[in-house]
Amino acid sequence: MRRVLILGGTAEARALAARLTGVPARQAEIHVVSSLAGRVSDPRLPAGEVRIGGFGGAEGLAAWLREQRIDRLVDATHPFAERMSASAARASRLTGVPLLALRRPGWHEEDGDGWRRVPSLPDAAAALATGARVFLTTGRRSIPVFAARTDAWFLARSVDPPEPPVPSNMHVLLARGPYTVEGERALIREHRIDVLVTKDSGGAMTRAKLTAAREAGLPVVMVDRPALPEGVRETGDVAAAQAWVQEWRRGV
Ligand code: NAP
Repeated sequence: MRRVLILGGTAEARALAARLTGVPARQAEIHVVSSLAGRVSDPRLPAGEVRIGGFGGAEGLAAWLREQRIDRLVDATHPFAERMSASAARASRLTGVPLLALRRPGWHEEDGDGWRRVPSLPDAAAALATGARVFLTTGRRSIPVFAARTDAWFLARSVDPPEPPVPSNMHVLLARGPYTVEGERALIREHRIDVLVTKDSGGAMTRAKLTAAREAGLPVVMVDRPALPEGVRETGDVAAAQAWVQEWRRGV
């Protein structure tokens, strides 16, 4: 029985786990373990075995890979989960366990969009016009970065509540995607939003806000994703990741 660890927390990770635990994969004798950080209180669980919680850095992950006799490692974490991706790359080097990064492609500007790309969250906070009414979708842990912008007003959407104190100029909306264009349009209208701030997460689940912003003629501040660690093989395609996991059976 070959053993695969999927570092998860994304729709792509769940899709890969579902494919690999399906009937053809069972015939291929693959045991799938998915790993979640444990950040979200009620996570969507992938198919197959699931473990929750950190490994204790790259060394901890390397020890776990050895102990569990893992044959292949897929880093299917969110494109902004930079520390976990760095750990995965280092643990792969330490153990020799082959690593593939499964990262959904980023978003691209279309006709009618007015995006400003920035390299970091602090740059996004600095890019806001004085007195802006901001739809902030960069996650609850990014909220402190925007707290200094006391001149602006924020509609901050997150899956779980942010750590208190929440700034008084911030209205928190607890919600989990997928979102619809109609719903995003209504939020923009109701809260008289004049700029959207988002990370370049990519994917369909949270793309509706970009369509709604385009329709409303809103500017978008887009935080660029961090680069993957050097030398890590990457795919944006779940089927390709599945093939990579299964290919060694054919002696590739
Ligand atoms: P991060 O900053 O890169 O990771 C921080 C630490 O959390 C890691 O060093 C690791 O702890 C632990 N960790 C992260 N992902 C893990 C996983 N899949 N399994 C076990 N431990 C994990 O990551 P993050 O940005 O906090 O994201 C945490 C999780 O949420 C990830 O699984 C990611 O896919 C998901 N997520 C993140 C975002 C986002 O915007 N960042 C959005 C949606 C979902 P140790 O060092 O102790 O191993």
